Amino acid sequence: MNTTTVDVLTVAEWEKTLEEQKFISERGVRRLFAKIGNVTNAFDPKRIARSVTCVDEGITSGLHLAGSGVLLSPERRSAELAAAGVTELTTHDGCGAFGIAFPNETDVNRACKRWGAVEARRLGLSHRHITAQEMDRPARSHIATAIYYDATGTFNRIAGLPKGFVVSRKSFSSGPGDLALCLKIAFGDLGFGKLFTNVSPLNIILLPHPSDRNLSLGVLEKEAQTVAVPYGRRVRIDGFKTAWFAGN
Ligand SMILES: [Zn+2]
Repeated sequence: MNTTTVDVLTVAEWEKTLEEQKFISERGVRRLFAKIGNVTNAFDPKRIARSVTCVDEGITSGLHLAGSGVLLSPERRSAELAAAGVTELTTHDGCGAFGIAFPNETDVNRACKRWGAVEARRLGLSHRHITAQEMDRPARSHIATAIYYDATGTFNRIAGLPKGFVVSRKSFSSGPGDLALCLKIAFGDLGFGKLFTNVSPLNIILLPHPSDRNLSLGVLEKEAQTVAVPYGRRVRIDGFKTAWFAGN
């Protein structure tokens, strides 16, 4: 796919999202969450399993950090992962963040898996590589229409919510940078790209912490607005305070 054409498969995936997009634009994300019966499952600390995973929309468990921290310096990665209390480092097929960190690798998936194994050993963590088959998206494209900017520290996407990247803002200090990266991928050639318009924008969904003032709706809003400036009205920012999560 290039920048002037959008391929048939991408359009087919896009069309599947139109109904939920319409719902969000007319009624807002809070209502969308409210209509899902088992929404508390989206805030289940058990699904974190102290595992660091990528922000990729195809991965629906863990604490989400771009490329599991591959873009950070080794020192900062050690510090961030230790502070988050993770015990497992994951890598995955088709990782955009890994491709940015290591642009000259030819067999990217193999190199990514190998990097994860070496890095996990250095950090004293276990390692797991997530294959394309295990991911909840097509192997060759990003079909996210949303980015969840999560400050509860417990969010993972469940069925019924729009496919979207997850940035675990509470757990890692690189949140704003990771949010910018997710936007770049979603608006790039591998994402829905130019299909996002001011009529059908990408949604940044803010999930503030219920009591921590440093992670309030206002704080998250400001961070998201700053990062989303280049996209204008092709990005819509919406959020709400939730008491659905079990506490963390
Ligand atoms: Zn990734």
